[in-house]
Amino acid sequence: MKRHVFSAATFSGVLLGAAMFATPAVAEEETFITIGTGGQTGVYYVVGQSVCRLVNRMEDANVRCNAPSTGGSVANVNGIKSGELDMGVVQSDVQYQAFNGTGNFEGEPYENLRAVFRAHGEPLTILARADSGIEVLDDLKGKRFNIGNPGSGQRNTMEVVMGAKGWDMDTFSLASQLDAAEMASALSDNNIDAMAYVVGHPNGSIQEATTTVDSRLIPLNDEAIQGIVDEYPYYSKSVIPGGLYKGNDEDVETFGVAATFVTTADASDEVVYTTVKAIFDNFDRFKKLHPAFANLEPEDMVSSGLSAPLHDGAARYYREQGWIE
Ligand code: GLU
Repeated sequence: MKRHVFSAATFSGVLLGAAMFATPAVAEEETFITIGTGGQTGVYYVVGQSVCRLVNRMEDANVRCNAPSTGGSVANVNGIKSGELDMGVVQSDVQYQAFNGTGNFEGEPYENLRAVFRAHGEPLTILARADSGIEVLDDLKGKRFNIGNPGSGQRNTMEVVMGAKGWDMDTFSLASQLDAAEMASALSDNNIDAMAYVVGHPNGSIQEATTTVDSRLIPLNDEAIQGIVDEYPYYSKSVIPGGLYKGNDEDVETFGVAATFVTTADASDEVVYTTVKAIFDNFDRFKKLHPAFANLEPEDMVSSGLSAPLHDGAARYYREQGWIE
């Protein structure tokens, strides 16, 4: 995504230079980067927008960043692979599967995938209407359940859960595939009984749903879930703290992943270095951009929860900070 841009000033400089038979001014080079995020009511969108805001205000860097909304983790990996995206936010399970060629990426390891850093935790979050009668995972059988749009991380993780349970699409009376930004209104309009979202907390989608309809977070702590956590290194138990959402005052046990930031080995060292420098040189500001970032610590972010190798440009900055060897 590299373009050469002659700014108006440079252009007139060139004209002036030519007119005076002097050496023309050196053209300024701007690099445009696109970061894949998720639905607008999730946290990835905020991560992407926050990173771009910091990158775009770096003086002398000449990197222009934008972070459009996308279908989510799997769509972001595919977008990076096809060259449509330069970077993206992806769940740690998706990063692992894409790099190693397992799960939805079976037989197609993406060896050029590179890790940049790990961000906030993302529990698998199942929210059900209070009038649906759903209280535990098994109660989803025969219900109208949004399993997530293809391309989303929740769809990817739900497929793992469904595999462990021996479920398929027919397990539900309706297995809808709405995008993340559409789920909350579908729940409050009574078009679905429950929705799945792998997402940091608090977030706009669960907030929207819980304030518009009586709804509860469903604990995910049965044997099948324990089996998943035991089997795969990138899943761990987690808790959605009580009190974040209306009508959900108790902690809810579930399991989850981490959101990670990835790119390709083809991305230039300079651009990735600039991106991580923009974030970590301004880390206090970054942390304030979303409550889900509150507990992030730079040294952990660059040294755990990553499956693909660190990008060289990122590693250079982390080494300079003494965060990695
Ligand atoms: N984890 C979700 C996904 O990979 C996105 C969550 C978010 O947008 O914050 O699709």
